[in-house]
Amino acid sequence: MKNALTMVQEQLQQACTVMNLCEDVYEVLKLPQRCLQVSIPVKMDDGRTKTFVGYRSQHTDALGPCKGGIRFHPDVTQEEVMALSMWMTFKCGVVGLPYGGGKGGVVCDPRKLSQGELERLSRGYIRILARNLGADQDIPAPDVYTDSQIMAWMMDEYSKSRAGINQFGVITGKPIILGGSEGRDSATAQGCAFAIRDAARKLDIRLSQSTAVIQGFGNAGAHAARLLADWDVDILAASDSSGAVYSANGLNVEELIQHKDSTGSVKGFGGSEEISSDELLTLDCTILVPAALENQITEQNAADIKAAIIAEAANGPTTPEADSILYARDIVVIPDILANAGGVIVSYYEWVQNQMGYYWSAEEVHKKLRTAMHEAFNATWEMRELKGVPLRTAAYMVSLDRLHEALQLRSWI
Ligand code: NAD
Repeated sequence: MKNALTMVQEQLQQACTVMNLCEDVYEVLKLPQRCLQVSIPVKMDDGRTKTFVGYRSQHTDALGPCKGGIRFHPDVTQEEVMALSMWMTFKCGVVGLPYGGGKGGVVCDPRKLSQGELERLSRGYIRILARNLGADQDIPAPDVYTDSQIMAWMMDEYSKSRAGINQFGVITGKPIILGGSEGRDSATAQGCAFAIRDAARKLDIRLSQSTAVIQGFGNAGAHAARLLADWDVDILAASDSSGAVYSANGLNVEELIQHKDSTGSVKGFGGSEEISSDELLTLDCTILVPAALENQITEQNAADIKAAIIAEAANGPTTPEADSILYARDIVVIPDILANAGGVIVSYYEWVQNQMGYYWSAEEVHKKLRTAMHEAFNATWEMRELKGVPLRTAAYMVSLDRLHEALQLRSWI
């Protein structure tokens, strides 16, 4: 399996080469400024204490405070967290946010923890990292297997470390009642849907006559399925960590969401056929949305992918080797740093609203997100046309233009 850190470094190097940037830019950006490893002792329900390992990586604060989610997953590694923090930097750059990249992770299986254990772990993680986080320093958010409840515990714990004074701006993806933003829940998928619509227009594809396949029916994937279905796209298949379901006539997304909520998986959904996770990726469809984890589209399966558009709701789902194969086959890959930027855009809006203490309507957030995604998509598409490069390289180039200027002005290169 391709190491995520190697993947992001290769992508960065490729963009630096096309842009003819001096070697120093790559040197400064090829690794995070800081990556902390922490040990979190948690009192378990059976009375024993278990220590969990966690990480927080801060890639660069050249453009502003670091920003990025916290992942709870058994496969979290330091290198993965470092890579994810780097993708966050380039993502913030491509959509023009005043942030650098951050990312956190805890090696654990949250599905095997009780609510009490999950709360103590979440609070323990923040307590031990509190001195390295802050609204003007590093601002976490949800990622795989973390949600708004976990963000609420973390904000509460961080506030305790600041004399009990509420610190809403330290974390985003919070519940609305605790300083969350309207639209944050579905923001990643909404941004992804806007990018898909823009790409479809450029490619003369009619969404109402299109089909889509969703890998990873979680926050990003399920919301994306719902939004695409609202535009009359037929959702042919969806998967989660337990399995994949398919229907040639299209799945009823609302019913599938209810089924997953009540049973914990998409598996066994009425009227659907069970397929393997590998089959799902190579189904005949217009749009493929990988919305699970890294390393899903590789040199092993890239030649068999039949979608016209791949919209990376997940971070790092496509390896550089697969990218080359897809590019040669004229498959348009909307890269993660653009396709899933809606999440951090609305996180930014949440942070701005927290600083102001003035909150926007769902319509206002939606409108601002649509404009931001549209501008970022167009800038990336124009770069692609101008330089004759894949969309991913183009997105890096848009981002690196901004980063390069900041690095020069700060005399870091
Ligand atoms: P989530 O925990 O809500 O959902 C993840 C889903 O993926 C779950 O349904 C899980 O069962 C499924 N899954 C896990 N392993 C799988 C596998 N091998 N095959 C198929 N499905 C699998 O997480 P999320 O927040 O939706 O994040 C998903 C991806 O989107 C991640 O790459 C994350 O970094 C990225 N992302 C999320 C956000 C956000 O705001 N939540 C923002 C940007 C990017």
